[in-house]
Amino acid sequence: MKKSHVRDCFCALCRTPRKLRYTRSLQGRHYLQILVLTIVATAATFPWFTWKGAVTLPIIWIFFDSTYKSLYRKDLKCPYCGFDPAWYKKDVKFTRQKVEEFLKANPDSPVAQRGRSQENSFTNQ
Ligand SMILES: [Zn+2]
Repeated sequence: MKKSHVRDCFCALCRTPRKLRYTRSLQGRHYLQILVLTIVATAATFPWFTWKGAVTLPIIWIFFDSTYKSLYRKDLKCPYCGFDPAWYKKDVKFTRQKVEEFLKANPDSPVAQRGRSQENSFTNQ
């Protein structure tokens, strides 16, 4: 088994090394799964719908695509600082607010601790 599906990257905000398991769009193996599922669904409903059962293809496709996109989005969000690059592209203020909320909710996060130690060093000067 090769691990080509895992990509190494860094969080754009806290620079923590990260691994992304999902890509932006479906991979070849997913299209194969969609095709197999469609054939199975068409075969299972064949006595009633005959070849019309193939309309399950776009339904299965949309289901796969939306599931995969939500997994990708969840994966994209940094587990250490709550930074979400997908949101950052749409709304910077909202993203900043989300990160602040995340750090408040997770005071044990290494990023929150780093921020605190920086504050302390400022007050010591
Ligand atoms: Zn981060």
